[in-house]
Amino acid sequence: MNYSFCKTGDDYILSLANHCEIVSTLIQFCEQEGLEAAEITGLGAVSEATLRFLDPATKAYVDKKFEEQMEITNLTANLSRKDGKPYLHVHLSLGRRDYTLVGGHALCATINGACELFVRVIKGAHPQREFDPETGLNLYKF
Ligand code: FE
Repeated sequence: MNYSFCKTGDDYILSLANHCEIVSTLIQFCEQEGLEAAEITGLGAVSEATLRFLDPATKAYVDKKFEEQMEITNLTANLSRKDGKPYLHVHLSLGRRDYTLVGGHALCATINGACELFVRVIKGAHPQREFDPETGLNLYKF
């Protein structure tokens, strides 16, 4: 297992294993626990991360890989479902050695140190997503 956790009511305190990839491991955790809706916050450190920026003009993501040790000054994510599968929307703010920040939509990131998360489960909610051609985003469909 790439993570360990304790449950507090409906919520979780979660620790991801060193050197694992954050987004895919979080999806694994959500699948394993049968979660459908949650708010996730966290901190930790990574050795590399690929961030994306959606260009509204082209409706296409521009990806950029950062290969350096960085602090996760903030991870914010929400969990929903798309096409019957867990869908995570993850944003990262990362602190560099010179104390400047990079940030954006997180495609993937590899832990180097720790990744400590708090998962607040939104009980009874079943949010779904659908692709929206106007924005190029997978938006909530209520
Ligand atoms: Fe995003």
